[in-house]
Amino acid sequence: MRRTIFTEEHDLFRETARAYYLRECAPHTEEWEHDGQVSRAAWAAAGKAGLIGWEFPEGYGGQGIRDFRYNAIMAEEMAATSSVGIGLGLQNDVLPPYLGGLTTDEQKDRWLPGVISGETVCALALSEPGAGSDLGSIATTARRDGDDWVIDGSKTFITNGILADLVIVACKTDPRAGHKGISLIVVERGTPGFERGRKLDKVGMKAQDTAELFFHECRVPAGNLIGEENRGFYHMMRNLPTERLAIAVSSLAAAERAFELALDYAKTRTAFGRPIGSFQANRFALADIRAKLNAARVYVDGCIMALVDGHLTADDAAAAKYWTSETAWQAIDRCMQLFGGYGYVNEYEIARIWRDNRVQRVFGGTSEIMQEIVGRSLGF
Ligand SMILES: Cc1cc2nc3c(=O)[nH]c(=O)nc-3n(C[C@H](O)[C@H](O)[C@H](O)COP(=O)(O)OP(=O)(O)OC[C@H]3O[C@@H](n4cnc5c(N)ncnc54)[C@H](O)[C@@H]3O)c2cc1C
Repeated sequence: MRRTIFTEEHDLFRETARAYYLRECAPHTEEWEHDGQVSRAAWAAAGKAGLIGWEFPEGYGGQGIRDFRYNAIMAEEMAATSSVGIGLGLQNDVLPPYLGGLTTDEQKDRWLPGVISGETVCALALSEPGAGSDLGSIATTARRDGDDWVIDGSKTFITNGILADLVIVACKTDPRAGHKGISLIVVERGTPGFERGRKLDKVGMKAQDTAELFFHECRVPAGNLIGEENRGFYHMMRNLPTERLAIAVSSLAAAERAFELALDYAKTRTAFGRPIGSFQANRFALADIRAKLNAARVYVDGCIMALVDGHLTADDAAAAKYWTSETAWQAIDRCMQLFGGYGYVNEYEIARIWRDNRVQRVFGGTSEIMQEIVGRSLGF
C-alpha cells in the first residue's frame, strides 16, 4: 500500500539511513552477534552521517528537528536491510526528552556534543532485579551528602549497559514516598562505585548488550540530577508513549521483512512437485498475514502522525504497542513456519527475526501492562 506520511526530505533521509545500515551494520551481523556487542565505529559512523540526535538543538550538533517520522525511518531501514540493532533506537527515540528536555544548559554543554557525534553511548536504567513493571517499587537509593548524590543499588536488563558512557539511573531520593520519591541521576563511565555486571545471555537481540549494573557508595556530583528532584516517575511516564510507539514501529517493520522473506521462500521452495506457496493452506496464511500487515501499517502510520501532531495519548501508545507487537509476533511466527526446518536454523534471517522479536511484547512495558493502561482509560 502506498504510504502518504512522508515528504521528499524524509525520502532523502531514508536513503542516508539505508546506505548507513548496508555499509556499516549489515556486514557485521554475524561478528556482532558472536561478540554480543556492536562496535563503537558503527556509532561514530552513525553520528557522522547525521543519524543520531537530530532532535537536539543545532548549537550542540543536532538539527533541531522533532519529527518522529525520522525515527520510524531508522527502524524501518534497519529491518529492511537485514541489519541488527546497534542501540541507536534508545539514543534517538527514548533519550532526547531526558537529555534535551530535562537538562540545564550546563548539562547540555557537557553531554550533548558527544551524544550526537556517537562518541557517547547512553543507557536508561530503570528496571531492577526486583522491579520491572512496577517501577514505583525500585530499591536503588540516592542520598544527598554535601555536594554529591551517593547511589546504592542495582539495575538489570539495561540496553547498552556495557558500552554506555552515560547512564540515566532512576533512584529513590525519598524512599518513604513511593513513586513520588524517585529522581533521575546521570552516572558517567569511570565513576568510582559504578560497576558493570554480567552481559546477559539473551534468547535474541544477541548483538545488543543488555547488562546488569551495580552502584555501591557511588558518588556523583549534585549537578548530575536531571529534571526535578522526586519527580522522576512523572518524567518517565511522560516519555514512555514515544518509546512504546517506537516498539510498535520496529515490530511492524520486522514483520514486513519476515513477510517479504516468507513470500520469496514460498515461491521457490518446492514440495510434492509444486512451490509450497501454491498450496491453499500456505497461500491463505500469506494472504492473512498480508491483510493484517496492511491494517497494521495504516494504524501505525496514523499513530506516527498523531505523535508528530502532538495528540498521541499514553493509552493510544499503549494500545499501539500492545496490538502491533502481538500481531507482528503472530505474523513472524507464521512466516517462520513456512521455512520448515530451515526456519529454525540460525543462519537463516527468519530465525533471527523470530528470536529478536519475541521481546517486543515484553520490554518497554509488557503486553499485560499495556492492556492494563488501556483498560484503565476506559472509565471503570
Ligand atoms: C532485551 C531487554 C532490554 C531491556 N532494556 C531495558 C532498558 O534499557 N532499561 C530498563 O530500565 N529496562 C529494560 N528492560 C526491562 C524491561 O522493561 C522489563 O523486563 C519489563 O518492563 C518487564 O519487567 P520484569 O521483567 O521485571 O517483569 P515483571 O514486572 O516481574 O512481570 C512478570 C510478569 O508479570 C506480569 N505482570 C506484572 N504486573 C502485572 C499486572 N499489574 N497485571 C498483569 N500482569 C502483570 C507481566 O506482564 C509479566 O508477564 C529490558 C528488558 C529486556 C528483556
